[in-house]
Amino acid sequence: MKIYNTLTKKKEEFVPITPGKVGIYVCGPTVYNFIHIGNARPMIVFDTLRRYFEYKGMEVNYVSNFTDVDDKIIKKSIEEGVPAHEVSERFIAECKKDMEGMNVKPATHHPKATEEIDGMIEMIETLIEKGYAYEKNGTVYFRTRECDGYGKLSKKNLDDLTAGIRIAVSDEKDDAMDFVLWKPKKEGEPFWTSPWGDGRPGWHIECSVMSKKYVGATIDIHAGGEDLVFPHHENEIAQSECCNGVTFANYWMHNAFLNIDNKKMSKSAGNFFTVREISEKYPLQIIRFFMLSAHYRSPLNFSDTLVEAAKAGLERILTAVDNIKTVMPGLTEEAVAADEANIAALSGLVEKYEAAMDDDLNTADAIAAIFEIVKLANTTVKDGSKAYAAKLLATIEELCEVLGIITEKEEEILDSDIEALIEERQAARKAKNFARADEIRDLLLEKGIVLKDTREGVKWSRA
Ligand code: AMP
Ligand code: ZN
Repeated sequence: MKIYNTLTKKKEEFVPITPGKVGIYVCGPTVYNFIHIGNARPMIVFDTLRRYFEYKGMEVNYVSNFTDVDDKIIKKSIEEGVPAHEVSERFIAECKKDMEGMNVKPATHHPKATEEIDGMIEMIETLIEKGYAYEKNGTVYFRTRECDGYGKLSKKNLDDLTAGIRIAVSDEKDDAMDFVLWKPKKEGEPFWTSPWGDGRPGWHIECSVMSKKYVGATIDIHAGGEDLVFPHHENEIAQSECCNGVTFANYWMHNAFLNIDNKKMSKSAGNFFTVREISEKYPLQIIRFFMLSAHYRSPLNFSDTLVEAAKAGLERILTAVDNIKTVMPGLTEEAVAADEANIAALSGLVEKYEAAMDDDLNTADAIAAIFEIVKLANTTVKDGSKAYAAKLLATIEELCEVLGIITEKEEEILDSDIEALIEERQAARKAKNFARADEIRDLLLEKGIVLKDTREGVKWSRA
């Protein structure tokens, strides 16, 4: 498999450190709110990468952190008058619900920054001992100029970076590009004791520590959104390589951004959506399919038109699966003449799918190969044997499963559909069409929706 490595700016053959095993570290969300639809992109893309390695028979150690101490979390905790960990724990739980809805597998480990402070203090101590960090008034800084190769991931040069800085250089730091490893506590903020006084870690150090602990000093693949290349990932490399003396990550993968209606998502522009909000409008399986319909390194535009197109595409696959299941019982047990050519065509398309996935996880082309299999199924299943139909079915199911797409046609019922059916039921009752009213109640019940007639009107709940 070839992977585009941000570090070398080239597609490279992927060679794991240990044959048959892959260690992946993906920077996770800062948990101060529901995750937004942009955060969902790396989750879906790298979960698909993991699934594809597993499909190839590799053992994957997939680690993704939760940043649970940060200015935004603290701000929210102050606004709500609750401890910071209450805010972060609440949104970790909500994030896990969204992940489940998007069929993103739980990571092998989901470390939290606040549970790894000791490891961070230890790494900072080593960096100080080795001369890569220094303390000033309770703040510990990383000395970027001491670090050979600083800027190699983002292709930035320290002198250019310094020249670009317009803000007054803090007199405390030795150099404008030095970054914080540890900061002193502020009144009302969570803190931990350290050799440099009470305080909390800077952002970057957590990933250096957690990736080493849960994956290893050198990891196969480090991933995240492209906004993380600089400074976050550049600083992670600096901390880890200066501390451990070995390469930090062999391959760096970065997803491009998701925009809404061709504009950068932002709360102030009013085009900011959480995954939870979107799930009211579309089943999350459609969102997952939509995200994978573009290559992960291409910017992706989120619009109703494009999501509707993804919905129609997914429907085509699910209908084909349904169709195979319907005709299969009537097919002959013995092999038929057409089987050989059909099975060869199917194998060719599976190869096409794998070639696309092997080419830097090109899910767009992999989905195109699935559509070709769907077309083959629609045109040939009736004239093949039962064994051929079973092979078609198992193949479509397996290739979709790698993309995290479930081919069972179980439509999730949306709130708006439920409300519409309840209205129709009320109208049927008014017209004394009780048969239809009961039919609607039973239909909703089948989908797990329970109706309750109350004095204030009909109330419903999901069973
Ligand atoms: P954050 O919580 O901001 O640290 O983001 C968590 C992950 O989501 C990181 O990998 C970000 O790069 C990624 N991310 C944030 N916004 C977007 C976006 N609009 N499109 C794609 N990825 C994003
Ligand atoms: Zn990180």
